[in-house]
Amino acid sequence: MICDRLKAVLQKIHAAEATYHRAEGSVQLLAVSKTKPVEDIREAWACGQRAFGENYAQELEDKYEALDDLDIEWHYIGPLQSNKTRIIANYADWMHSIDREKIARRLSEQRPEHLPPLNICLQINISGEVSKSGIAIDEIRSLAEVIAPLPGLRLRGLMTLPAPVQDFDEQRAAFARVRQAFDALNESGLGLDTLSMGMSNDLEAAIAEGATMVRIGTAIFGQRARPHTD
Ligand SMILES: *Cc1c(COP(=O)(O)O)cnc(C)c1O
Repeated sequence: MICDRLKAVLQKIHAAEATYHRAEGSVQLLAVSKTKPVEDIREAWACGQRAFGENYAQELEDKYEALDDLDIEWHYIGPLQSNKTRIIANYADWMHSIDREKIARRLSEQRPEHLPPLNICLQINISGEVSKSGIAIDEIRSLAEVIAPLPGLRLRGLMTLPAPVQDFDEQRAAFARVRQAFDALNESGLGLDTLSMGMSNDLEAAIAEGATMVRIGTAIFGQRARPHTD
């Protein structure tokens, strides 16, 4: 079941790559497994999926330990309180939701020396007050310049989580603004290679606008039933 859905999502990604003249294989799939049991992750792993995304620090640590026998690339995509940074510094390969210098500095300091630098995306808020997470588009450059030199981190790109809308052109317009910000940062030599955008309902619009990583939960694992507190 999970395997079939995973394959269908990969097909959708490949079709969108072709439709929007993106290079084949240029869009990576991040399977968002938040609130789902470790058995579901094992099933997706057996089907070939390696990158998984989690939203709650304690849940990421628990799953990391329960799945220690698998070669999984762990991505943290949720809001992070400063008293939970050590968990992410120790167990994550990627952190997509940086919107504050303080959290970035703690992650850099706490990143263990035996691990490669933690891959970082800055979260952009393009929907105004709808979401509390993320920084405004005109504040990205100053945050990027502070974070890029931190030794325990490697700044890879931008992430966004737009307010849900159904209209395809509206979805594209939001993603286009993030891509423009991404291009502008690269013009000044930051060397970013990751645009983390697109979810189950808007992955085609995101791919049309240059996403290199789509974060898909529901379309692979089904609806999330239980509410979650960290
Ligand atoms: C839950 C979540 C997703 C996945 O959303 P779906 O609609 O289930 O595909 C992607 N990104 C973030 C940041 C999320 O919190």
